Amino acid sequence: MKRVLLKLSGEALAGDKKTGFDEATCIGVAQQVRKLTEEGYQIAVVTGGGNFWRGRTSETIDRTKADQIGMLATVMNCIYVSEIFRYAGMKTEVFTPFVCGAFTSLFSKDAAVAALEEGKVIFFAGGTGHPYFSTDTGAVLRAVEIEADAMLLAKAIDGIYDSDPKVNPEAKKYDEISIQEVIDRKLAAVDLTASILCMENRMPMLVFGLNEEESIVRTMSGSFTGTKVTV
Ligand code: UDP
Repeated sequence: MKRVLLKLSGEALAGDKKTGFDEATCIGVAQQVRKLTEEGYQIAVVTGGGNFWRGRTSETIDRTKADQIGMLATVMNCIYVSEIFRYAGMKTEVFTPFVCGAFTSLFSKDAAVAALEEGKVIFFAGGTGHPYFSTDTGAVLRAVEIEADAMLLAKAIDGIYDSDPKVNPEAKKYDEISIQEVIDRKLAAVDLTASILCMENRMPMLVFGLNEEESIVRTMSGSFTGTKVTV
């Protein structure tokens, strides 16, 4: 693997606080990503927005508007995390699918790949730019567009289980599972739209817990303990 897309869920960024940012968690992520860039990996990052807002959680306001707030939440997350990455010594650039003035660069495949080739860690904020999608779907879309070798899914949970381990103490973790089985068994590692996009475009996924010691580095160095999703 040379080029990977790292998806950080908003929930994982918030650490134990469950909302906003946990700075220590973000610095830990930055230090791991720096090690990987020093080893020559090209890294693109997508962050979720659930630590601030999820469109589907509002029953009051119009869904399109609620989703726009969600997309802006991911822009805030990416600006914050990219600044933490700069603090840790990396060059970064944040891309959005819509114009955000001077805050971000407008996404194009060529500009994103050029930034990776320059040695920058790049961020894809704002999801797909459209309502009724998730950041998971935005992440797979961008991974496919930049021709990433795999998508790394860093979650608050350490892999894919056959049932919810918070509810069922007997739940079993998969070491490896096909994306078809994830869909058939409704395991919701990523949402259905993102799963189908992964399957159709043969984008493998590595799912692991962000809070495990050095989990991003271990995932890339072969001592991976999460779930590998094959295509
Ligand atoms: N969102 C959207 N279109 C996209 C990506 C995200 O409308 O292409 C909105 C949607 O409202 C979603 C919110 O942004 O609920 C935050 O993203 P998500 O819930 O996927 O974050 P996560 O659950 O991974 O923290």
